[in-house]
Amino acid sequence: LPSKLPAGKTSIFSIMSNLSRKHKTIDMSQGFPNFETDMKLKELVCKAMKDGYNQYPPMNGIPELREQIVAKFDNLYGKKYDETTEIIFTAGATQALYCAITAFVHPGDEVIVFKPAYDSYEPDIKLAGGKPVFVQLKGEDFKIDWEDLEQKINSKTRMIVINTPHNPTGTILREADMLKLEKLLENTNIILLSDEVYEHLIFDGEQHQSASKFPGLAERAIVCASFGKTFHNTGWKMGYCVAPEILMKEIIKFHQATVFCVNHPMQRAFAEYLKEPEHYLELGDFYQEKRDKFLELIKDTRFKAVISKGTYFQVLDYSEITDEYDVDFSKRLITEFGLASIPVSVFNIDGKDNKQLRFCFAKTDDTLEKAAKILNRIS
Ligand code: PMP
Ligand code: GLN
Repeated sequence: LPSKLPAGKTSIFSIMSNLSRKHKTIDMSQGFPNFETDMKLKELVCKAMKDGYNQYPPMNGIPELREQIVAKFDNLYGKKYDETTEIIFTAGATQALYCAITAFVHPGDEVIVFKPAYDSYEPDIKLAGGKPVFVQLKGEDFKIDWEDLEQKINSKTRMIVINTPHNPTGTILREADMLKLEKLLENTNIILLSDEVYEHLIFDGEQHQSASKFPGLAERAIVCASFGKTFHNTGWKMGYCVAPEILMKEIIKFHQATVFCVNHPMQRAFAEYLKEPEHYLELGDFYQEKRDKFLELIKDTRFKAVISKGTYFQVLDYSEITDEYDVDFSKRLITEFGLASIPVSVFNIDGKDNKQLRFCFAKTDDTLEKAAKILNRIS
């Protein structure tokens, strides 16, 4: 029987992770840390369980956690969300993205997606009967081609998806980009879906430009975030989204129908842990050190980097080494050399191969050193 996603494929993240496990490689493929989440946070989860917070929490999340996140948006981005009507906690950012897209995209609607793009937007759009319209990011810095974007916006455009800091390229949108976008969307009904899961992983003194900071964007934006990226516990699958009430009151219907609510003891734990903002404010420096260490260790190789400005990913160009298709080369890196990465073509329009691999540097120094040894050996 045909499903509604007949062309859906197993995600490259599963493929490479499984291959990496099978060959027991150094794994820099799927984006997750190979070090532990803070013991204090784990103890808070255990405490919440022992204290009896083991039944359904409110559908939109516990008030204590809603208050913390709403205060964070106010402090960092100067945007006041209503803690009762403008935030929900979700099963990772993935579920927030899914609910946002399925809530608003109708059959025949167009949704603009910048490429390269994270791989969950496109199936979500198609599942809703929408049509993804791709805009290629240009140049080494993966800049928005504003003319191209403007041309692709029409009366069918229902939504635009942005992602900053950007997976897989590690680029960021700056204030000028957000202002341009704000101007472009003025007097339209287009919804902005802003994937900001790497908001705290930003380097070199840059500031994260949340859509919530810009009034003309915030009024139409659904901002999605992930605790997994921020607190080194991607396996907990906890995230959230914020949006103006007029949008959130629709999204929550989809949340109700998909999972209804998410993990209660973890919500208790995060509510407590977030009282100390250094837990997320120090993250940029922490990951910048890892990025710098990795880049220093591979500086004499023929893998070429455009330095990542955010996320925990570094893309490396290998065109000086081989002209193999990136999926083949990344598989060979696993089977012959014991190092796993992600071929960037999977994020590109029509799987275009630019001879680039993505390496996740959320790894212990020991892992980074071992990986760098392999990359030096190949070069
Ligand atoms: N968006 C982007 C850009 C991501 O990289 C990821 C996670 N890899 C997600 C969304 C999903 O986040 P979560 O694991 O919280 O569902
Ligand atoms: N976001 C992670 C990455 O880019 C993967 C998450 C997933 O496997 N869905 O590697």
